[in-house]
Amino acid sequence: QEQALRTILGMERARITRYGYAVEYDALDPNELLRTLESRRIAGVFFGGQVNGTSGYEEAAGQGIVAGVNAAARARGTSPLILERSDSFIGVMIDDLVSMPFDEPYRMLSSRAEYRLLLRGETADARMLGKARDLGVIPPERATEVDIEQSVIERTLAALERTWVGANQRHASCLSRHGIQPAGRSQAALELVRRPEVSLESVLNALEELRLWEAERPTGLALARSEIAAKYGAFIAKEQKAARQQVASESMRVPTGLDFDDVRGMRIEARQKLNSATPETVGHARRTPGVTSTDIGALLIHLAAMRSPSSPGPMERSSPSPPAHGDPHVVIRRPMR
Ligand SMILES: Cc1cc2nc3c(=O)[nH]c(=O)nc-3n(C[C@H](O)[C@H](O)[C@H](O)COP(=O)(O)OP(=O)(O)OC[C@H]3O[C@@H](n4cnc5c(N)ncnc54)[C@H](O)[C@@H]3O)c2cc1C
Repeated sequence: QEQALRTILGMERARITRYGYAVEYDALDPNELLRTLESRRIAGVFFGGQVNGTSGYEEAAGQGIVAGVNAAARARGTSPLILERSDSFIGVMIDDLVSMPFDEPYRMLSSRAEYRLLLRGETADARMLGKARDLGVIPPERATEVDIEQSVIERTLAALERTWVGANQRHASCLSRHGIQPAGRSQAALELVRRPEVSLESVLNALEELRLWEAERPTGLALARSEIAAKYGAFIAKEQKAARQQVASESMRVPTGLDFDDVRGMRIEARQKLNSATPETVGHARRTPGVTSTDIGALLIHLAAMRSPSSPGPMERSSPSPPAHGDPHVVIRRPMR
């Protein structure tokens, strides 16, 4: 370090009198937590923040709100707050924390999320509104603001879809005045906005001049969100569909006490990994290192067979243990450390 320091202009003769320090801290293994951030070992105790092996301000704050809301929900006997990977970055972080092997401080990188098109910053209010309202953690006035903004966006998109611009001279010259290349045929205003070089604002200006715009004009964030929704709507819809399919299988519960050795077609390595990881859901099983999508395919077939009344076989072979604490879906299999 001394040599490196002395390469800096003006520090050629510098001497280090005291070295910087390394920051070390103890953390619990976050695999011991439920997705509510409640301890699996001690029911009613919730952990949030660096103590769960994360590093960072946002990571700590994100867990803090989930742990706090869930502690309150538990005390009040109301439904818990469980965030999905497809509805928030906090959902991705907590799901990773409780299901992935823990060997180094966890940082929330946006690349960890599968559905980044859905988790855009400007949609956070709208994405969280339903859950926040159910839990009573959003002031009614704020909820109303978000509702209003959302309906302005929906009305804007609907109006863009039903408002057509003709291929006539009057419409063409108006579009040109607003910097929009006229099309050789009539088309919905939505199609104009979808052109990469055309802004929603310029389309609205042209439509107003042509007296074709009758809806309320969006401003501020509603304008920006309407534009994104119009331009990328098809991609967003595709990702929403994929997320719905994923959520359906992700959140499918793996029966407590399931013996993965019974899953036909699953590789031995995956059976061993899953028997020791005891995943709560198919999503957790999917993210267990050493488990491939083929193994998950075998697991899904096995779970479907267990649900089918004509094939009770696998159910009979497994012997579910009684729940060790409040959550009936979780049984601690690991030795206490
Ligand atoms: C030098 C340094 C630089 C950093 N820079 C960044 C950065 O640039 N960006 C970033 O995102 N993150 C940074 N971090 C990481 C970030 O600061 C932490 O991960 C985050 O602040 C942790 O927040 P927390 O609330 O979980 O824990 P803390 O902020 O550590 O809060 C825990 C609190 O609990 C209190 N406490 C402990 N034991 C008890 C007890 N028994 N009873 C009562 N209270 C107790 C402590 O006094 C403390 O106030 C940095 C960390 C360090 C050390």
